[in-house]
Amino acid sequence: MRGSDLRYSLEISFSEAAFGVQKSVSIDREEACGSCKGEGAEPGTSRKTCATCRGAGQVMASSGFFSIARTCPRCHGEGSFIERPCATCRGAGRTAVTRKIDVKIPAGVDNGMRLRLNGEGEAGLRGGPRGDLYVDVEVTPHEFFTREGGNILCEAPISFVQASLGCEMDVPTLTGTTALKIPAGTQNGKVFKLKGKGIASLNGKGIGDEEVRIVVETPAHLSERQKELLKEFAALSGEKVNPVSASFLQKVKDLFLKD
Ligand SMILES: [Zn+2]
Ligand SMILES: [Zn+2]
Repeated sequence: MRGSDLRYSLEISFSEAAFGVQKSVSIDREEACGSCKGEGAEPGTSRKTCATCRGAGQVMASSGFFSIARTCPRCHGEGSFIERPCATCRGAGRTAVTRKIDVKIPAGVDNGMRLRLNGEGEAGLRGGPRGDLYVDVEVTPHEFFTREGGNILCEAPISFVQASLGCEMDVPTLTGTTALKIPAGTQNGKVFKLKGKGIASLNGKGIGDEEVRIVVETPAHLSERQKELLKEFAALSGEKVNPVSASFLQKVKDLFLKD
């Protein structure tokens, strides 16, 4: 009889999922007893053919005209039994063992994926084939990045002054930081693409991009002097400085004038 499959939940970091990693996991499983080689009989002895059923595992019971096959009560249908059970496993043929297993996580693996390790499950009964070990991958969230397939996304907050005048800033990537040039007049929500800074696909074909989404922060807790300067700035600007919001206001006005 084939051994049972086992399941293991393995937590790895965002970067480990991106680049692959080798992990050692500790598994409790049934393995074939080393003393009796999984047979269950004390070394030097062997299983004995059941005399009651002559090894068939079944006995015929007749009642009147009928003959009915029943499971042999002496060997419980096995056709043979152990005369002297193995002292190590008490005849079970298997012993519980805690085993360290190396699991190779390929680069590009994603949260919720399942890896199968052939033959790393529990030992079969009486020399049957081993079950498999299923490793469920859980990827812990990253401080900066979220992921969509091979692409990674992050948000970069900048001040409205930086957005207006342009700036150069360091943005995080999976391998360190890289300088990103923000042109003058950058709007909130603008996405800059860093080619090839994403995650390689599992089959090794192609690599994703990193997308940096700009979040323009509105200044809060202004001093009196700062407020004064902003008011002066607004008076100087008129509507020309914010063409989008100016046209929005015009559309709202038009809408209500029509009714
Ligand atoms: Zn029997
Ligand atoms: Zn044994």
